Amino acid sequence: MNNKVLDEEIVEQKKYMQKVKSIIKKGFYYIETMGCLLNENDSEKIEGMLVNMGYEKIDDYSKANVAVLNTCCIRENAENRVFGKLGAMKQYKKDGLIIAICGCMPQEKHIVNKMHESYNFVDIIFGTHTIYRFPELLFNVIDTNKKAENVIDIDGQIVEGLPIKRNDKYKANVTIMNGCNNFCSYCIVPYVRGRERSRNIEDIIAEIKELAINGYKEIILLGQNVNSYGKDLNDANSIFANLLYRINKIEGIEIIKFLSPHPKDFTDDVIHAIKECEKVHKVLHLPLQSGSTNVLKAMNRKYTKENYLNLVNKIRTEIPEVAFTTDIIVGFPGETEEDFQDTLDVISQVKFEQLFMFIYSRRVGTIADKMENQIPEDVKSERFTRLKKLADSIVFETGEKYIGTIQNILVDGISKNNDKMLTGRTNSGRIVNFEGKIDLIGQNVYIKIISNHGWYLKGNIAEN
Ligand code: SF4
Repeated sequence: MNNKVLDEEIVEQKKYMQKVKSIIKKGFYYIETMGCLLNENDSEKIEGMLVNMGYEKIDDYSKANVAVLNTCCIRENAENRVFGKLGAMKQYKKDGLIIAICGCMPQEKHIVNKMHESYNFVDIIFGTHTIYRFPELLFNVIDTNKKAENVIDIDGQIVEGLPIKRNDKYKANVTIMNGCNNFCSYCIVPYVRGRERSRNIEDIIAEIKELAINGYKEIILLGQNVNSYGKDLNDANSIFANLLYRINKIEGIEIIKFLSPHPKDFTDDVIHAIKECEKVHKVLHLPLQSGSTNVLKAMNRKYTKENYLNLVNKIRTEIPEVAFTTDIIVGFPGETEEDFQDTLDVISQVKFEQLFMFIYSRRVGTIADKMENQIPEDVKSERFTRLKKLADSIVFETGEKYIGTIQNILVDGISKNNDKMLTGRTNSGRIVNFEGKIDLIGQNVYIKIISNHGWYLKGNIAEN
């Protein structure tokens, strides 16, 4: 099967967009996105299609004509939140609200069955592989007043040419591949996003060139496993390292970031590309998950504690200014106190700039869910407390080195903690809050760091 949706199909969907527009004239849409940046980027495409159909965004679904929930199923509570939201939306059906659900949850059969049985007021159900069919599904609902559904459980195709409405003017998410072949035993992603499918490198470059022309400065390359980009394309030019070199040459782009790489795919050519491409952000997200080789084996992560530490040392030798962030799962089935000590040991050795820490939660459909030696909840949360304590101390310790330095910051926006402060990130990904005028957003400014607050730093705009 051609891995790309035929242009004719996209043309067909654009015709449905016109049909919807001619019927509704004007309307309002509400969209809520759960989960990862890939879902965010999918939502930007759904919003692009809705705007093309004549809808305008509204932040209150009680006043919307169409409400879209783009869902995540990485953890059970994410799913429960969706069911709660659907329950709250039901009352607006009488006002003609059309409810659509998409993303990873509809890729799970038991969820779609639950929708049919208990949430049969949902009008549209589509999955991660059929986003581009949304206009057709919406048209069918408006035209026939019947429900519409399109979920396929085979690997979807790459979709090019969909309209996109980006929610930031300076930073852009660019999905370079979809799916994952790794089957980590705790993860549902390979079952809901399919096998790895990479976009054609010329399509990616063309998209980023257009973004640069439109004033975008920061590009975030997205994939469940970005550094195995192109392995499914059998084209020597379509490899991740080469993609970085080519984007690095695009004028106007200042920062290139990528999420998420897998430690096992950090090949030398990728390390050299990160080193030699001045625009590639020198903060690498390197998900560790566990520091214990036994647990890593049970997780099917395909590397050991030693492999991970050797990789960190190799990258640090090549790129001394590099900083690392990571993901950690605590309480994986079978994790002993000794295993947990290994995790704490790796964290102390690597001194991560930032850590995303999770308590293991069982996922129906994953291998780990069937494992016998599940860890009691109280043991999991006690370990999580110790992990957080160590992480806080390391993040504070590594924050001390910034005091008195001048940092070049791309201003992201207003600080979440204090609306009188602006916020941005250092080159190493540290959050910096400082006082400044709102028109600095999207600009680069030099900030003198005056204090360290652990997960964020404070500073003043540097004189001259
Ligand atoms: S690499 Fe592992 S954790 Fe990441 S998406 Fe793939 S299966 Fe899930």
